[in-house]
Amino acid sequence: MKFSDIVVIGGGPAGMSAALAAASEGVRVTLMDRSDELGGQLIKQTHRFFGSERERAGSRGIEIVNILRDEIAKNPLIEVKRNTDVLGIYSDRVIAYEEDKLYRRMTADKIIICTGAAEKMLQFENNDLPGVYGAGAVQTLMNVYGIKPGREVLMVGAGNIGLIVTYQLLQAGVKVVAIVEAAPVIGGYKVHASKVRRFGVPIYTKTTVKTALGDRYVTGAVLADVDDKFQIIPGTEREIAADTICLSVGLAPLSELIMHTGAEIRYIPQLGGFVPKRDENMETTAPGVYVAGDVSCIEEATAAMIEGSIAGISAAIATGMNCSKAVAKREEYIDNLCELRAGDTGKKIRDGLAML
Ligand SMILES: Cc1cc2nc3c(=O)[nH]c(=O)nc-3n(C[C@H](O)[C@H](O)[C@H](O)COP(=O)(O)OP(=O)(O)OC[C@H]3O[C@@H](n4cnc5c(N)ncnc54)[C@H](O)[C@@H]3O)c2cc1C
Repeated sequence: MKFSDIVVIGGGPAGMSAALAAASEGVRVTLMDRSDELGGQLIKQTHRFFGSERERAGSRGIEIVNILRDEIAKNPLIEVKRNTDVLGIYSDRVIAYEEDKLYRRMTADKIIICTGAAEKMLQFENNDLPGVYGAGAVQTLMNVYGIKPGREVLMVGAGNIGLIVTYQLLQAGVKVVAIVEAAPVIGGYKVHASKVRRFGVPIYTKTTVKTALGDRYVTGAVLADVDDKFQIIPGTEREIAADTICLSVGLAPLSELIMHTGAEIRYIPQLGGFVPKRDENMETTAPGVYVAGDVSCIEEATAAMIEGSIAGISAAIATGMNCSKAVAKREEYIDNLCELRAGDTGKKIRDGLAML
């Protein structure tokens, strides 16, 4: 059985920040990720970030990832385990993981879970046809592998991700035939919506996909209007041609590993689904188990990085290490997070956290 002071599970922006924050307090950290590279969602984000300037807004996700990777590579206290899939967490904080096709175990004084989120699916007829993608998959194809997903894309969802991926599709020379949004208003920032509208992409609100058309692959879709309860209004169906349907209908926290620890979980729609109860230091109700990033609440990379730093510092302090200036540093991060969540855009998160 191997041992590490702190194991961080998930090497996205939250996990990388948690590992760096804990190691900067002098604690040994093992950072595990199932991918062959650290970075999580950031590796495909070619657009400039919104969010807080202090947390690198204005930089592109792919630039932020390189900065964090470099800092981690230079830190001798951080051991990185790539291609390492964490399968379970047992009592006494025993972590079971698969590495090099072998099952191994490690125990840790503290665990920080930063596994991120999975894309949500949408129910409609024929939604398993080739050509129906999640927005994250479309981004991976285009921005990581340089492959266009199709020629004519129908985007479903007008939140920030749907709008950003639409813009990236347009930049790649792919036609976006329309964006449909079931809500009565566009959920994403106005600046992104205006950008895609300037390219001539119509955004239809109170509209959904009823059916994907096609036999062996997508050739179009049947759209329909929805009422205030998101029910299809009969007689409003119309067809639209497309070879790709891209779903950007939200993310759900990957909270399974948190459930293994016995930490208390609640269903909070404003935070994206099943999320753990935790205190302001990001510690769950399972002692020594911390969370950060999308797994704790679907938000954005800036918040994920700040939460990661808070969790990393808190876990380091809890190992008993002499972290003289750590408490003040953590207070600063907690203030940053409150600032980020202030105002209209943060209201949903504030409401969700209040419920939690
Ligand atoms: C299209 C798009 C655009 C976005 N634009 C912005 C933006 O402009 N600004 C912004 O601030 N945010 C943006 N975001 C949101 C941001 O990317 C996420 O909030 C952020 O990546 C969350 O970070 P995370 O570390 O919690 O999770 P992730 O980045 O998802 O990382 C999770 C990591 O955990 C690993 N993992 C999961 N399960 C396991 C396991 N069992 N074992 C080992 N490893 C595991 C995964 O491989 C992954 O590397 C965008 C997101 C998308 C999809």
